[in-house]
Amino acid sequence: MGFKIGLDLGSTAIKMVLVKGDKVEWSRLVATAPGQEALALDLVKGALTERGLGDGDIENIAATGYGKKLMTSAGHTVDEISANATGLFKLSSGRCRTIINIGGQDLKVINLTEKGKVADFKMNDKCAAGTGRFFEQAARILDTPLESFGEMSKLADEPLELNSTCVVFAESEIVSLLAKGVPKERIIKGLHHSVARRVANLLGRHKVPNDGDIYLDGGPSQNVGLLEALEDELLMEVKVLPNPQYTVAFGAAISGY
Ligand code: ADP
Repeated sequence: MGFKIGLDLGSTAIKMVLVKGDKVEWSRLVATAPGQEALALDLVKGALTERGLGDGDIENIAATGYGKKLMTSAGHTVDEISANATGLFKLSSGRCRTIINIGGQDLKVINLTEKGKVADFKMNDKCAAGTGRFFEQAARILDTPLESFGEMSKLADEPLELNSTCVVFAESEIVSLLAKGVPKERIIKGLHHSVARRVANLLGRHKVPNDGDIYLDGGPSQNVGLLEALEDELLMEVKVLPNPQYTVAFGAAISGY
């Protein structure tokens, strides 16, 4: 007994954490594909095998994320906004007041109360611009791994001003910039700034807290170039915790007790 599992069935990746007390003991992700419950249960099986645990050691399985309802074997489900707030508030030792979550297909800004509850949130899930999907497409066109975007954008002095805010148009804009011989580094830095401006718009400057910290999480927060662009656009420090793609799964695991 004593172990809890949090599963975040996201649009792009299914993330799992195995938690004891408030500590993450094991985490892994797999790309989202049809048969999400089976994929999630494979992660559970992997964790139990690797840790030498049995079903009886697991107190509860909590599911969150847009595919949470598919996880019929979960003990309970938690909405992803609350799971994100719970997870980041705990991991930040109560310092977090605003979360910017960039996922595979949406962008969220969540404001927290001083007790770590959701005060309000805004979401942009109508358009892929400013989401992980946008970066994935750019990586494909630029023929450059997403994992190196952060380091590459540091090599550029000035970001390129990208005119297209729509993914489809941005795609053809990138193609023509490459054809003109514009260095990839500048294009990547420009992409980071265009996403950062979208985030700044969604955030609204009046919403920036003055009694706590602002955190970025979700898969794209592993990109240090995006973080730098965001700090430039917001003119303030934005924090990223280790393993920022797992915050929501962690929040689900520790919710409801
Ligand atoms: P969701 O919960 O919607 O599935 P995630 O928070 O798991 O989304 O984020 C998925 C996105 O994270 C991918 O679309 C990809 O753009 C981005 N991503 C994943 N790993 C990295 C990385 N190492 N560097 C930059 N971006 C990454």
